Amino acid sequence: MKKCPFCAEEIQDSAIKCKHCGSNLYAQEPPRRSSSSGQGKSKITAGLLALFLGGLGIHKFYLGKSIGVLYLIFFWTFIPAIVALVDAIILLTMTDENFDRMYNQ
Ligand SMILES: [Zn+2]
Repeated sequence: MKKCPFCAEEIQDSAIKCKHCGSNLYAQEPPRRSSSSGQGKSKITAGLLALFLGGLGIHKFYLGKSIGVLYLIFFWTFIPAIVALVDAIILLTMTDENFDRMYNQ
């Protein structure tokens, strides 16, 4: 016998649903998130931010990277705009798996 994690009543080892509270006992396993849905940062959002506001480092701030400050400081040189364009291409072409590994830990 094991215990239901939700109501602490004893249940069958093979039970899928708790007969006391009706909880799905497999619901507590971490759900395998399908790529583009769910919480966390979006690859597309980051890519579009890089494309349109990348010269200001907005996509870096969105991704939680403090290096975005450098984009702001050097905004007037237009170098950040070029770097951001490269960032945008990398972000939009990378796989969801790679994106999640880098930014959605
Ligand atoms: Zn229960």
